[in-house]
Amino acid sequence: MDGKEIKTIQKLFPVIRTLFSTAGRQYPWFFVMEALKTLIQIFQPFLGLFLTPLLVDELCGGRNVRTLATYAAVLVIGECVLSILLARVNTTLQKYQERLDNYFAMEISRHSMGLDFQLTEDKKALDQLEKAVTGMSWYSGGAYGIGEQVFMFIGNVFKIAGFVTVITVHAPALLIVVLIYVVISGWIRSKLNEIELISYGNLSKSNRLFGYFGWEVVDFRFGKDIRLYDARRMLVEKWKKYTEESIGAWKWRADKGYPYNLALDGAGLVRSLITYFYAGYLVIREAFSIGIFTQMISAAGGLDATLGGLVWNVQELMKRCNYAYEYVLFMEYPEAMPKGTAHVKPGEHRIEFRNVTFAYPGTDKKVLDGVNITVEPGEHLSIVGLNGAGKTTFIKLLCRLYDPTEGEILVDGRNIMEYDYKEYVGQFAPVFQDFKIFGFSIGENIVFDNMDQVRLKEILKLTGLDGMTQKLPKGVDTPVFKMFEEDGIEPSGGEQQKMAIARALYKNASVIILDEPTAALDPMAEYEIYKQFHSLVGDKTAFYISHRLSSCRFCDKIAVFSEGGIAEYGSHEELVNISGGIYAKMFEAQAQYYK
Ligand code: ADP
Repeated sequence: MDGKEIKTIQKLFPVIRTLFSTAGRQYPWFFVMEALKTLIQIFQPFLGLFLTPLLVDELCGGRNVRTLATYAAVLVIGECVLSILLARVNTTLQKYQERLDNYFAMEISRHSMGLDFQLTEDKKALDQLEKAVTGMSWYSGGAYGIGEQVFMFIGNVFKIAGFVTVITVHAPALLIVVLIYVVISGWIRSKLNEIELISYGNLSKSNRLFGYFGWEVVDFRFGKDIRLYDARRMLVEKWKKYTEESIGAWKWRADKGYPYNLALDGAGLVRSLITYFYAGYLVIREAFSIGIFTQMISAAGGLDATLGGLVWNVQELMKRCNYAYEYVLFMEYPEAMPKGTAHVKPGEHRIEFRNVTFAYPGTDKKVLDGVNITVEPGEHLSIVGLNGAGKTTFIKLLCRLYDPTEGEILVDGRNIMEYDYKEYVGQFAPVFQDFKIFGFSIGENIVFDNMDQVRLKEILKLTGLDGMTQKLPKGVDTPVFKMFEEDGIEPSGGEQQKMAIARALYKNASVIILDEPTAALDPMAEYEIYKQFHSLVGDKTAFYISHRLSSCRFCDKIAVFSEGGIAEYGSHEELVNISGGIYAKMFEAQAQYYK
């Protein structure tokens, strides 16, 4: 994030610590089950490794039927019990895969929603979010995939220790053969790994394109364009082309890897031959029994396979942690704004902008330039001005969606950066022009948290939504839109605005803001909504934004924004009388609507 390249090995620990601590708090049984699975997998090979030689030696020697039957029974029953246990544990573990994936996806969403608003327009932050999402998907297998690899690694270390001990007891020279083989096969595997990485790189574009074709183009939203502009043939041709490219990349990988795979098989064969000859030689020399011969062959094979498994574990862990590290970076993404701890005093507030200048992050243009204004407690301020004059930006600064580039905003005499962020933001109930209605119920759209039915009823009545909800069989529980439910309603633009306004009123905040949520309405309808809203707001502090003047009639003061500053300020009567003034001209132009 700070431009410093971090080595993959350095990512292992932070990834494992972050994922395990989060997953451990939520699903501790996942780790218990993984530990149990590892334990069973450690035991499994050793049951046969110790019992088979006993069985073989009894067959070659004493041939006591009871002893033979006992060994065979222990072996078979032991294998059965371990297999059943393993299957049971695996079934339980599979359930955790879904749970963990969903939980981490939710953590990412939760963190995104809590990020400073200005980061939602920051390309670097958005890229990091994207990388965190993909990094925790099948690329890494998420906490489940990484947890599984870590436990497999631990299990393999124990198994290796076991095999080495068994071999050392009877034929220590065999260890040298196995070690030489491990070095050679490790080198060959690393070459195969390089080829795999290159081929993944070559495949990533085709994979993204497949994703695009698979998910985006079949989306019905594209249906009109595809049909009306006859895009089907072109799309099918492209699909074929990328399929060919993808097949080409897979073939390249297979061709390149072929000699290495052959060499790997050859080395394995040589290792087996030497093991058989050496162990056979020791049997002939009567250094150990035929039973131990079988044990040595199995132990050498087991050690070889487990060492291969361990190398694979390390490579997989590196690869997976490399992807999942993007999640760690996202969760630690630095805050964009300083936040204080001071408490906001209850009641109405005095708001003051002192020489506030602001340019959006990544731009030089001063959208606001040296703005000074004071709004007294309970005052109603109307903000007018042409489109792009900076009215919404002024509100965004007040609500701390952004911080001023220069100057300061004071609430009750204190810089707003010093307040506890959540508490401060809780003071405002804005209705923005681009307010959003969600695919939830009417009630949930108005009250996001802790629904008080009595208060909700009151607000519905105040905003005139009660007429609509009373007619609906499910009342306030009626879903909005048909996204998830058949019986969802499609509210009109006006009804959606009323819901947004009801949401602001329900919040019972001390400052209410209407930022042109009515822009789509005609001036008379807007006038009606503002008039009604004005009576709903009562004596709370309120800001009304409009480039029309219908809202100004009710307000104590009017601020006319122009070219990044407040060009005129005063009451309606004062401003209409400034000859040649912006407000006077606007009023003249729009007067027909208000006469
Ligand atoms: P108003 O509410 O008066 O119509 P705004 O405050 O929305 O004006 O916008 C003022 C200026 O800031 C406009 O020129 C607009 O293009 C620019 N602007 C608004 N939002 C952003 C943003 N997120 N990034 C960069 N420029 C922006």
